[in-house]
Amino acid sequence: MNDCLFCKIANKEIPSQCVYEDELVFAFKDIEPQAPVHILIIPKEHILSAMELNEENANVISHIFLVAGKIAKDSGIDKTGFRIVNNCGVDGGQTVGHLHFHMLGGRNLMWPPG
Ligand code: 5GP
Ligand code: ZN
Repeated sequence: MNDCLFCKIANKEIPSQCVYEDELVFAFKDIEPQAPVHILIIPKEHILSAMELNEENANVISHIFLVAGKIAKDSGIDKTGFRIVNNCGVDGGQTVGHLHFHMLGGRNLMWPPG
């Protein structure tokens, strides 16, 4: 996707603080962190939202959760815990049209969310 912010970040056309990368996914620090650890994990493939997942592209989701465990260890939140959030669509609060998972930790997160 030519005009997608997160595609540009994954391609390194736009700089970010990358914490993990492999052939399928890219993970980087959120520019406006909502917790001491706030990392965004995205597929390198442009997928608009969770509603665009299908039999062909959904394998990346299990990979993202495996990667999340590694990132949790590297970030020192594997013992204290964390939350993984996907915002989908307008009511879900999605502001960037490229599938992404927020990984939040480093403090006690509130539940239920607002
Ligand atoms: P959403 O609201 O779509 O679920 O989450 C988008 C997230 O992307 C927000 O938490 C926002 O702070 C983050 N974000 C938006 N633009 C940038 C950027 O240019 N760089 C980084 N690192 N994060 C961004
Ligand atoms: Zn994209």
